[in-house]
Amino acid sequence: MNRINYPLIDFDEAWRCISTLISPLPPILQPLTDLLGHVLAEEVIAPEDIPSYPTAAMDGYAIIAADSAPYRHIIAEQTAGRSQPVRVEIGTAVRIMTGAPLPLGADAVIRVEESEEKDSMVRFFSAVSAGENIRPVGQDLAAGVVVLPLGEVLGPAEIGLLASIGCTNVRVYPRPRVAVMATGSELVPPEEIPIHGKIRDSNSYILLAAVAAAGGRPIHLGIIPDSISAQRAAILDGISCADMVLVSGGVSMGTHDFVKPLLNELGDLHFGQVAIKPGKPFTFATVNNVPVFGLPGFPVSSFVVVENFIRPALRVMAGHRRLWRPTCTARLRHTIQHAPDRTEFQRAVVIEQDHIYWAETTGIQVSSRLQSLVGANALLRIPAGVADLSAGAEVTALLIDQPEVI
Ligand code: AMP
Ligand code: MG
Repeated sequence: MNRINYPLIDFDEAWRCISTLISPLPPILQPLTDLLGHVLAEEVIAPEDIPSYPTAAMDGYAIIAADSAPYRHIIAEQTAGRSQPVRVEIGTAVRIMTGAPLPLGADAVIRVEESEEKDSMVRFFSAVSAGENIRPVGQDLAAGVVVLPLGEVLGPAEIGLLASIGCTNVRVYPRPRVAVMATGSELVPPEEIPIHGKIRDSNSYILLAAVAAAGGRPIHLGIIPDSISAQRAAILDGISCADMVLVSGGVSMGTHDFVKPLLNELGDLHFGQVAIKPGKPFTFATVNNVPVFGLPGFPVSSFVVVENFIRPALRVMAGHRRLWRPTCTARLRHTIQHAPDRTEFQRAVVIEQDHIYWAETTGIQVSSRLQSLVGANALLRIPAGVADLSAGAEVTALLIDQPEVI
């Protein structure tokens, strides 16, 4: 395996390259109980009016509003779920409960609080006008209207709406299956005590969790030693069972970094270096049209790449139109050292105070220090071409969690 120096491309070029080679997955039919977070791949039209019959909006009495009789004779009781074959006429009323169908003849409901009932007769303390306390046909939803457009993200409200119109199977984009493997002969599973020279695999677990958090379905392929044949077999295994493959480690310039040449051999390698810090060895290839991403072994570097490229790519495949984290402009609480050759992403805590966002980084920013990620709710994007920043300077913060307001 020869060690090639891949051209260094910038952030925008890397994303352009990825976005031209990925697309939404073929839609699937999914039942109501498994729709949360999916994106609609069809327009949903209301097949019927809701409510489909005039309905009492209050507990009370169904009457004719223009009836001036001082007392009315109660001829029936209409509860939700039962429809009585009765007709309200002048001098009569039907006791009715919220959600029950309005009986024939009635044109209003008078609230129980406005009434006094005795011996099957009822007297009212006030009057109502026609239509009062009634939900007319189609008030909530009119037949034929688009209730949910294609591309809508399905949350609890949307799922409830689908249930209310009897849409029990819906065409949505699937959650992408993402195979995750960690390369490195130094790695042992977290449950093992590493002997001298070994470390625990933490990157797999960050990646598996990040994939799930981004709406993907993680597939754990485990630890693969630094062997060309083992890694070749694992990558082929990955592309056969997943819509996307994440390979951790093995993308640097060491004598045992085999992933880039392997991807070159198995498919098309589109780029092998991006001018970002951390995450410079970030690699992208397609093998049998399956996107394969090579991520640095350092968990912090991997996380930065996931946030900036993998999460948006996964969202494209899951049918989302909004791909990016929200951003805000934050003021630095302290100076930041920054080399101008790359776009840097520093881990930080952003808070909001008197409508101003303030950012404080999470301590030493070396990419081996996982602690610099813990508790961070933002990545501060410090562009290439900019030198050190002083306290009070404004930076763009990618919000990975809601800032606390103090
Ligand atoms: P590599 O990208 O393979 O050159 O690895 C870069 C650094 O990250 C090395 O110090 C590795 O030991 C470390 N590393 C690689 N893979 C993992 C992993 N799965 N979990 C934690 N650290 C890792
Ligand atoms: Mg390695």
